[in-house]
Order: sequence, then structure tokens, then C-alpha cells
Amino acid sequence: MATQKNSRTSERRAPLEMNPEAFRRAGHRLIDQVADFLDSLPQRPVTAGNPPSVIRKRLGQMPLPRQGADPQELLAETAELLFENSLFNGHPRFLGYITSSAAPIGALADLLAATVNPNVGAWTLSPMATEIEWQTIRWIAEMVGYPRECGGVLVSGGNMANFVGFLTAMHHMNIREKPTTSAGQPRIYASQQTHTWLQKAVEISGLPQDSVRSIATDSHFRMRTAALRQAIEADFRAGDRPFLVIGTAGSVSSGAIDPLPEIAALCREFNLWFHIDGAYGAFAAALPDAPPELQALHSGDSLALDPHKWLYAPLEAGCALVKEAQHLRNTFSFHPPYYKFDEVRGEAVESLVDYGPQNSRGFRALKVWLGLRQAGLEGYRQMISDDIALARYLFELAAAEGELEAISHSLSITTFRYVPPNLALEGEPREEYLNRLNTALLTRLQEEGEAFVSNALLGGKYLLRACVVNFRTTRADIETLIQAVLRLGRELQQRGLPA
Ligand SMILES: *Cc1c(COP(=O)(O)O)cnc(C)c1O
Repeated sequence: MATQKNSRTSERRAPLEMNPEAFRRAGHRLIDQVADFLDSLPQRPVTAGNPPSVIRKRLGQMPLPRQGADPQELLAETAELLFENSLFNGHPRFLGYITSSAAPIGALADLLAATVNPNVGAWTLSPMATEIEWQTIRWIAEMVGYPRECGGVLVSGGNMANFVGFLTAMHHMNIREKPTTSAGQPRIYASQQTHTWLQKAVEISGLPQDSVRSIATDSHFRMRTAALRQAIEADFRAGDRPFLVIGTAGSVSSGAIDPLPEIAALCREFNLWFHIDGAYGAFAAALPDAPPELQALHSGDSLALDPHKWLYAPLEAGCALVKEAQHLRNTFSFHPPYYKFDEVRGEAVESLVDYGPQNSRGFRALKVWLGLRQAGLEGYRQMISDDIALARYLFELAAAEGELEAISHSLSITTFRYVPPNLALEGEPREEYLNRLNTALLTRLQEEGEAFVSNALLGGKYLLRACVVNFRTTRADIETLIQAVLRLGRELQQRGLPA
């Protein structure tokens, strides 16, 4: 045995191979660095806030390496490079955009997934990994009240999950089979608050951008169903082809949830596909006290979710669910002679290549599956409801603070702005000044790195927007954010805005 091993190593020396001792040494050192980094997160700024020129200089104008280098040194050095020059969405006071803190088990899962490196396109290439992905998909469906027998696929994120729903709708509704000229222009309906994935999906699909009807929202930024009905009826009268309505379960700007049951009823009445974008909000449907609209996710023909948001999976992980699995297969399953993937040893199997646009597929399911097993449904309920409670706390603190104006709170998104006391402006000039002041304030806040929020533009108002999808955030962090905003607002008001 020993001689055989030796002959193997002497036969070929691949520059990328690592012997077990070298791998162990490099790995242990890296894990130690990662553990120290995670431990140090709360003491670090959310971001060092360096300008791009500094970041580029740190990296250096490295030429393409001609010769290799020691992997242990490379890893140790690269870990430092990243730890010192990144923005940390795992930081307790990172509340920007809708990007979650990543579960540490997800990092370890990625190591394990990359080690086995199954190709989760075909069952034969990834027997256990494929079954784990299917189990993950069924768990996700169950968690949010979607039928467990649905079809589904994990993709890179919310955009891709929405594309999958969109393309399945187009396929099922026969949109490309009939030329648009003879059958009327295809029409899609979505509220003004819909995420920009829609424009990209329309572009990819080859439809004209003006296929989308932008439906007005109410004072809480939810789609007005009366306006939706009017638009659909008008388009049918004009000879167009309405085929798809998009509802959002948790909008990016304010966390608004469209009236999903009413939209679903309209879709049934007019025989339209109902797609729900739940990239941000869908997982809140797992809460026992979820808002009634969220309990209607099952009314969507398709549903997009983002495990890299409220399941706290490290990037990237999105998930598309389609109620009738067959519709998903009809859209994405092609069987050239060189692939025969649906039967193994006389037993039926489902290969994920038939359920989505990708061919070779990584094992992103593992980090999601392990997160679900580590925390369990109850654990997720606790983390998601804590996030929502913290956003509410922020809203309450802002509302009680004379120099802050609390604007909205829905799910775990709160918007507010700084309003200086005794501001001697009225009407338009006042709004304009407040927009400029809060823009400057946000820039300063993001650069300083004490706490990180992003912005929303709602009803013409430039707002600070905090989104808590972060299991590390505490009430003290929310209080720190409030204090930082007050301090910067006062400073800017006293010293004047930058030109
Ligand atoms: C985040 C988000 C998206 C896009 O998802 P990615 O994962 O960033 O691709 C789409 N829609 C909504 C409502 C979102 O919150």
C-alpha cells in the first residue's frame, strides 16, 4: 500500500495539489483567523470607508503570477487583506440594503460543499446533494405555507428566482408562440414599488420594456387593486394580451406587502399568471402572527425567495418555487441525446438541470439546509421576529425624538429622517433642503462606519432606511444608530452642507 502511494506521488506533481499535512496546516490557520475575525466584528467599524484609490493601492498592481506560491501564506495574507478592507454585512450595526448577516455554519458548509464538489445539475453526478437540495426546497415551501409538492430550484439570488418565475409564466401563457403583432401586445402588471429585477427580466425575455404597466400604490406603498383591475380591463378592451401580474411580499424601499389575496382573485378572474416576489419578505410568513397578506403566498403560481436574506445563508442563494412542477419542467427541460438523467437503476430521479436555467450547478443548498437544521423552524421564527421587533424599536425611538421624523415601519424596514429643530423653511424649499441634508448625513454615516444604513426615496422624500436582517443586532446597536444620526445631523446643520 505504502509503495503504491509513493509511486502515485512520484508519478505526477501537480502544482495545485496539497498533501494532507499542508492542507491541515493551512486550513487550521485559516479557521483560527476566521474565528478571531468573527469574534472581533462588534469592535470593528462596519467599514473602513477607504476611497477606491486606497483599496486599489492595497491590492497593488500585481502582474499575473508566473510561478506559484505557498498556499498557507497566500490564504493567511488574503484573509488579512479582506478583513481590513471590506464592508461587513455580518457586523451588528450593518442595517443597509437587504443583505443579511451570514450564519457561520454557512461558511463551513461552503468549505464542505466545495470539497465534495458535486455537480447538482444531474442526480447521477450528485446523488446525496440533489436529494438535499430537494429536501431544502420542500422545507422552504413548508416554512412559508407554499404547497410542498411544488417544483423548485435554488438559484443565485432574488433576481434569478424572479426571472425563473417570469420565464415560466411566459412559457405557460404561450407568450412567445404567438407573434405579438397578431395577438396583441403582451402585458405585465406590477406596482411602482417593484424591484428592478423586472426591467432585466423583460429585457432578457425579448419583450419591449413598455409591456409593463406600472400600477399606482396607496399611502402605505401597496398596490391599488382598483387601479390594477382598471389597467387589465383597459388592455383587454384595446386588444392587448395581459398575462402576468407581479405582487411583492415585502418591497425593497419600505417592506410593503401588496394585497396578495385580492390580486390572486383578479388573476383567477382574468386567467393571468400570478407571480409573487417574496425575495425579502416571504420568510416572515413562517411567523405564527404573520400579517394576513403574507399568509397568502400559496396563491401565487410562482414565488421567489431569497435564503441569502432572511435565512441568513451566505451569498449566494435564491429560491424559485412554482406551484405546478410540470410548468417549470416544461420551461427548462430539454433532452438532447447526450443527457439521460431521469432514471437511475430503474428508479425515477429528478435532476435539477430540468428545473432551471443553469447546467453545471454548485451545492448552494448545503449552507441553506444546514442553517435550517442548526436553528430549526423555531430558531428562525425567533430571529425573524427579533429583527422585526428591532425595526419597530427604531421607529419608536425615531418617533419619540424631536429632531427625527419616523416615516414608515413594515416587516423589518424602518425609514426616518433628520429634521433640524426650528427649521425656517416651508413647502418645497423645506423638502429640498431636508433631502440634501439627509443625503449628506447618510454619506457621512456610511463613511464613518459606526453604523450602516442605506436610503429610500418615498413620496419625493430622501429617507434613511434601516433594514434589520441581522441576527447580531441588539437594542443597544439601534440606540447607537440613533445617536450617530443625531450627532451627524446637528454637525451638518451647524457647519453647513457640503457644496
Ligand atoms: C433583494 C430583492 C430582490 C433581488 O434579490 P437579489 O438576491 O439581490 O438578486 C428582488 N426583489 C426584492 C423584493 C428584494 O428584496
